[in-house]
Amino acid sequence: MSLKLYNTLSNKKEEFKPLESGKVKLYLCGPTVYDLLHIGNFRGAITFNLVRNWLELSGYDVTFVYNYTDVDDKIIKKANDEGVEPIVISEKYIAEFEKDFNRLGLKKHTHNPKVTEYMDEIIDYVATLIKNDKAYEIDGEVFYSIDNYADYGKLSNKNLDELNAGQRVEVDSRKRNPYDFVLWKPSKEGEPHWTSPWGEGRPGWHIECSAMIKAILGETIDIHGGGIDLIFPHHENEIAQGEGCNCTKYCNYWMHNEFINLKDEKMSKSLGNVITGRAFMDQYHPEILKYLMLSAHYRSNFNVTDEKIHQTISGLRRVYETLNVINTVVETFEKNESGKVEKKFSELLKQSDAKIKKSLDDDFGTGEVIATLFETVRAFNALNILKKKKDINSWTTANTFKEWILKYGEMMALFQEEPNDFLSSIDEIMLKEKGIDRDKVLELVKMREQSRIDKDWTKADEARDALHAMGIDFQDTDDGVKWNVKV
Ligand code: AMP
Ligand code: ZN
Repeated sequence: MSLKLYNTLSNKKEEFKPLESGKVKLYLCGPTVYDLLHIGNFRGAITFNLVRNWLELSGYDVTFVYNYTDVDDKIIKKANDEGVEPIVISEKYIAEFEKDFNRLGLKKHTHNPKVTEYMDEIIDYVATLIKNDKAYEIDGEVFYSIDNYADYGKLSNKNLDELNAGQRVEVDSRKRNPYDFVLWKPSKEGEPHWTSPWGEGRPGWHIECSAMIKAILGETIDIHGGGIDLIFPHHENEIAQGEGCNCTKYCNYWMHNEFINLKDEKMSKSLGNVITGRAFMDQYHPEILKYLMLSAHYRSNFNVTDEKIHQTISGLRRVYETLNVINTVVETFEKNESGKVEKKFSELLKQSDAKIKKSLDDDFGTGEVIATLFETVRAFNALNILKKKKDINSWTTANTFKEWILKYGEMMALFQEEPNDFLSSIDEIMLKEKGIDRDKVLELVKMREQSRIDKDWTKADEARDALHAMGIDFQDTDDGVKWNVKV
């Protein structure tokens, strides 16, 4: 099966055919850099990291552009509030975003253009739109004339009569149609400005993406992504600009990710329930954010709850415990030795490869991929390989599985942490959440170990009961007590 993806333009799944064989031009609308991003804002970055990686694993050479909107009213407002230049704000939050992005361990994009670096291209673009009779200027302000673009509304399935009847837009009597949108506007006192044929001013929001796409990727691109809120007006307007300027199709496939809700509510600053990616990663771990996002389909509205977070922690713990077992086995032999992968397990990995391909080729079914990974983890654990770790075939099986799972992990930006470190981080998160004192746990663990050595069963039972009462799971092993916090 070849790759199929859901195209918002046609409202159905379509087979993916690139413009140029073996190559993909991918653009994702990036952040407005005036604050830290919340966890919802990161859904696009995490989803399209996976999209890009799967395209690359499928043999495509992907050029991935993710822009920074560094000219915007919110940036200007914050700069005025803080008494600094807007560029101080935008550069600060680009740096902050990059810290979060690197912490998430997502692959660097091919290009991260900033609006301020593409002002000449934006001005040329607007001039071409005027020349093509798709835009008009009034008092230093340039508007796109949607009545002159026959396909307006084709992405969002809105027709102009409905729009005019059903929605209120701010009325500007100078506009030919109330839905005409701004391409260029005069700058107010104290705002950043650039010299243009229409006077000193700055661009409207929508034009930046069209101009950067043309400058970096060309007139037509393969895939354009963003959150569903961007379908109208932003992406609708991008299409009108692109097709009005270049007289050719703007983009073949439009992919939109749904929103993330927090505890059943839409995350919004006014509701005060916004959690930044940074705060989430500080409280939990980047792995937990990525796994949470990828466990649901990108087109489903996803509700982040404590329960989901706990399920995520349990799931990640299972994978990392298995990776820990693998490491113990792998360290037993020299790297140059090799045996055979256990036959049934080897077959399961092959079937799982096919299943994963099928899931991802069907509009990036990441939830199914995770389910398949768990089937393999369960099957590996059932081999009980620690008991046979001196066997060269066990080593080969473990080593092969490690490479296999890390390959898919890399694709999802998961499972690359050092297992012991990650398992400790999870324990730390859960100890904190449950208010358990680590020293007290260690004291009881020691008591349990010593009383077993001393064959003092009453004391051993006492330690067991106390640990369980605190919410600690444990096992007595040859190497002492292994414990973790119940999730
Ligand atoms: P904003 O800063 O609100 O303009 O958001 C930037 C982008 O992040 C938006 O264009 C959306 O596509 C996306 N976004 C905002 N909120 C959410 C959310 N709760 N879940 C998923 N994506 C979101
Ligand atoms: Zn955009």
